[in-house]
Amino acid sequence: MSDTIFHKILHRQIPAEIVYEDEHLFAFRDIAPQAPVHVLFVPKRDYATLNDVPEDDAVVIGRLAIAAARYAKAQGFAEDGYRVVMNCNGHGGQTVFQVHLHLLAGAPLGRFGTP
Ligand code: 5GP
Repeated sequence: MSDTIFHKILHRQIPAEIVYEDEHLFAFRDIAPQAPVHVLFVPKRDYATLNDVPEDDAVVIGRLAIAAARYAKAQGFAEDGYRVVMNCNGHGGQTVFQVHLHLLAGAPLGRFGTP
């Protein structure tokens, strides 16, 4: 991740609204939100895409999902619902090559689209 935008956000080299951080991951508001709530959860371990995460490090992905669910509960929208998305490579629409999970919420979402 050493040369991505997300690395710069983690190291406070560019501003972002960081909403959560622990020893494994951090989360911040997306600069171009696609829903009323749009937060990105990013592991501190360095994987460019989901394709690069080995099975023996599956916990990296699990932690992202659990952190997103905890955030949804803490913010009070878990029961209303939300969506988590991971884009991978060109056809998936990935633009930042550090694995991350999008949390989208705050309104009814179109099926696999935006509100
Ligand atoms: P991807 O398209 O790779 O799945 O998601 C990358 C996300 O990062 C996009 O939703 C984009 O809006 C967000 N993003 C890109 N640059 C920045 C930035 O400088 N700050 C923040 N907060 N989000 C960014």
